[in-house]
Amino acid sequence: MYSSFSKSSSSNSSHKFGGNNSRGGSSRSGGSHGSSRGFSARGGSSSGDSHRGGGDNNSSRGGGVNNSSRGGNSRGGGNHFSRGGRSRQQSSFNPSNLIQNAAIVAVNEPAKVAYVSKNKFVDFKICEPLKQNIIERGYETPTPIQDQIINLILEGRDVTGVASTGTGKTAAFLIPLINNVFETIQDKDQKLGRVLIMAPTRELAVQINDEFKLFANRMGMYSALCIGGANMNSQMSSLRRGPHFIIGTPGRLIDLEKRGTFNFSSFSAIVLDEVDQMFDMGFINDMKYVIEKLPQKRHSLFFSATLPYKMQDIIQSFLTNPVKIEVEKQQASTNVNQEIVKIQGRSKIDVLHGLLDQEGFDKVLVFGRTKHGLNKLSQDLVERGIKVAAIHGNKSQSQRERALKQFKQDYIQVLLATDIASRGLDIDNVTHVINFDLPQTYEDYIHRIGRTGRANKTGIALSFVD
Ligand code: AMP
Repeated sequence: MYSSFSKSSSSNSSHKFGGNNSRGGSSRSGGSHGSSRGFSARGGSSSGDSHRGGGDNNSSRGGGVNNSSRGGNSRGGGNHFSRGGRSRQQSSFNPSNLIQNAAIVAVNEPAKVAYVSKNKFVDFKICEPLKQNIIERGYETPTPIQDQIINLILEGRDVTGVASTGTGKTAAFLIPLINNVFETIQDKDQKLGRVLIMAPTRELAVQINDEFKLFANRMGMYSALCIGGANMNSQMSSLRRGPHFIIGTPGRLIDLEKRGTFNFSSFSAIVLDEVDQMFDMGFINDMKYVIEKLPQKRHSLFFSATLPYKMQDIIQSFLTNPVKIEVEKQQASTNVNQEIVKIQGRSKIDVLHGLLDQEGFDKVLVFGRTKHGLNKLSQDLVERGIKVAAIHGNKSQSQRERALKQFKQDYIQVLLATDIASRGLDIDNVTHVINFDLPQTYEDYIHRIGRTGRANKTGIALSFVD
């Protein structure tokens, strides 16, 4: 059995991975280093003093898992970080260092106090049909970001939301925006509200649109989903019907706008979601293009897991006197037990297969570094009789959607993914995240492991290390 430990949300985003200052020893300090500290390769097995709570190196599983007990939070970094280069670099990320660092930082940290929501959904000044839809959606208590942001958006304030996937941010902006638009529909004297939501990935846009349909059910409100890889004509015809919400990815939205199917100047409210990811994916010029065409008078909402300095221009040109709401980053990973699996010269695929055959590995998200590597892994697993699908940049939109659906509905045991393809995915009950290849950066690691341990369930993240 794995020893049970909980690694709190280590969102020490000031840490950079990518340094190659190998440290052989174990000298550490309590995480008080400045923003450029790299987690460097330490080599060898995890030293005993870094593990707390009896987490010796148990190799009880087929995979040879090192159980490392940790608690508390590795927190305290600023918001500013820079990503290590992604492409084709050898990862210098070693989770055993993360484990050690988290344990040491935790010693100096006070115990976490659970957030107590000030509002209930019934208390918000939102219309009855929307309240009904929230109840049907099964939400009872607002998450911290929802608690703090919904009233501000209802009042029409511009907001910078520093929050990542898993915090409930989608509902945090959808609920008040749906209400605001609904009010303009009821009031014949008011100009009809229209909302644009721009997200970095197709999957995230699909998820936002799915959420929209649930929250706006039976309210006479419609959306158009505008994403790449999907049929342009059907998107153009849904735009011609004058939807209240347009939800899409930058490239396709701009393409459709240039074809004259809608004007960016026609929106009353705009959401830029996961802006740090949009930067990473090279959408900076697309964002600037859109912002320039938006009407001067508008309601602007900006969401990003981090606020690096490079975003300042965009923030200033997009928002007017915004209220900044920052919720605990990566809260989703609070419930994730993180362990390492020492490969020690064995075949990684054999180790993976051994794990997948074990009880409890029911819904497993496996991360790999390259599209080619994932294709090969997928093929190998299929040959071994594992039900598996893969999502990465070379898959068509319909293939990606099919794979996700199969995984969500438990038709397959394993979903293979690259970092980009997996950002923002909201999948219930993922039992394990396996880092078949280590991520490039600490942020990627946190994003990956945040796919499990959601909605107060406990998840397990395993990282393969040599
Ligand atoms: P998000 O950060 O928007 O991707 O949401 C993460 C997950 O939390 C999704 O599965 C949501 O359906 C769920 N969620 C969001 N808000 C609530 C809430 N108030 N109560 C329960 N679940 C929620």
